[in-house]
Amino acid sequence: MEVSRQSASETLHEIASLRPALKTILDAFAPLLDAQEALAQELAADLTKAQIQLPACQASRLSLGISLLSDQDLPDLATQYAKAAKTLAPYLEKIPALSQLHTPLAQAFAELTCAEQKSLREAVCTCQPGLLEDLAKKHELDPLVFNLAGTFVVSSLLRGLSRASFEPSQEKPWDTNNTWQQGYCPVCGSYPVLAWLDKPVIDERNTYLHEGGGRKHLYCGICGNDWHFLRLACPACGVSESRQIEILTEETNTRGEAIDWCPKCKAYCPTVDMRERIQLPNLDAQALGMLHLELIAWEKKLKPLRASFWNTFA
Ligand SMILES: [Zn+2]
Ligand SMILES: [Zn+2]
Repeated sequence: MEVSRQSASETLHEIASLRPALKTILDAFAPLLDAQEALAQELAADLTKAQIQLPACQASRLSLGISLLSDQDLPDLATQYAKAAKTLAPYLEKIPALSQLHTPLAQAFAELTCAEQKSLREAVCTCQPGLLEDLAKKHELDPLVFNLAGTFVVSSLLRGLSRASFEPSQEKPWDTNNTWQQGYCPVCGSYPVLAWLDKPVIDERNTYLHEGGGRKHLYCGICGNDWHFLRLACPACGVSESRQIEILTEETNTRGEAIDWCPKCKAYCPTVDMRERIQLPNLDAQALGMLHLELIAWEKKLKPLRASFWNTFA
């Protein structure tokens, strides 16, 4: 049975009702996350029509830990970049850090050449805004501002491309035979913003077939894909024989929310156990809604696996 998934704003409103202290920030981002989701869907339809897809998955590359987009050129997506920037600009320009711009965002992104699109994509996926200094200067934007807005634009495009390339209901090539063993995304190479443990699956045609759930998946907040990962391994240090993940959580009303962190490298990843949820949350909204736990992680001097616009506290 297919379980329905909440929209971003539904998940954010639910979290805000439980944690009023987060309401202001969650409300501020709800329209942007909803707009990004709708845009990704539209871009997927446009790309399908234009017969543009991601490069084909090769098991040999995946098993070596090479992400699908690593060192790959994509066709010129100027039209799609322009559409993404134009759609998201009104929402992005409401973020205080982005409200005082010399160049309108839509214009800056519409002017990117194919090579510049690739530089932006790589800077976003490897989380290195410093790589954007020259490009940002050309458009009279601060590199951090360019990176923040660029993250939403690139993310919408990669989500559109992924949906145009893979059937949502089918097993992904990287999960087949556990081909992909890495803690970073098999498609775009970004580190995950969230881990989730799945619900039990009951096969109604065969009451003897009952899978207990709890398998771990990592979720990429950039391209929107997820992949299987070993439950007790650290996504940053790699797979280890010994148990090495520590768990940080609230005492009450956890709703399956926790922070997994690694005592060796101090990287952390917010985690949600879907066995404790009736409705499945929107994963981008859920990642943003765990700020209360991220603040505790930050106080413990832990570092997010993937720095996001909301968890860069210092
Ligand atoms: Zn990704
Ligand atoms: Zn580690």
